[in-house]
Amino acid sequence: MYYLNERNQIIQTCLWLEQQNLVLGTWGNVSLRISPGEILLTPSKIPYNKLSPEDLVIVDYDGKKIEGSNNATSEMDVHRLIYLARPDIHAIIHCHPRYASAMCATGREIPPILEEMTQLLGGSVPITPAYIRAGKHLELAEAVTAALGDKNAVLIANHAPVCCGRNLEEARTCCLVTEKAAACYLSIQGHFPVHPIPPQDILAERHRFLYQYGHENN
Ligand SMILES: [Zn+2]
Repeated sequence: MYYLNERNQIIQTCLWLEQQNLVLGTWGNVSLRISPGEILLTPSKIPYNKLSPEDLVIVDYDGKKIEGSNNATSEMDVHRLIYLARPDIHAIIHCHPRYASAMCATGREIPPILEEMTQLLGGSVPITPAYIRAGKHLELAEAVTAALGDKNAVLIANHAPVCCGRNLEEARTCCLVTEKAAACYLSIQGHFPVHPIPPQDILAERHRFLYQYGHENN
């Protein structure tokens, strides 16, 4: 099987996300740029402890499947557009950790308050301007890529962070630094006003979860 080492690296990273409490269920996804124009991604809706190397999916820069029998993660476009915009990034992790997710509900970026942030993340952790429904894959991906800019981590409003690196090890450290920065900032600043998800978006998300999620790429 091609890229067995890279497939195993991604599976190990998924298990690490669970061990570190950086994710709940399969609400996270991991990818590697394995060659120019080829992205290896986690599949949609398969529990991490059941992932085998052949379950991963390879897509091209247009999102067209090159290899794999599963659907790629529903957040494939986020990975794809970041790789297109940022030739320096070769690994991306989207996770759902507690404090960074709390920051996502404040509508605020995390300012550059720690030394690790300057070195690894490029300074602050920006945030997308408004809530975008999870089913609006391309719109979400464009907003995330624009907000990320030249940084290595970004918060998706009312959702969770996306962390990047030159390799998976660096992307993992980005996850930890982003979570630590969020925890520190929240403990220093106290309570921010919350930006809740609008009611019409809550209804739409619930409907997608019950009736569409996992079938959209078929
Ligand atoms: Zn997510």
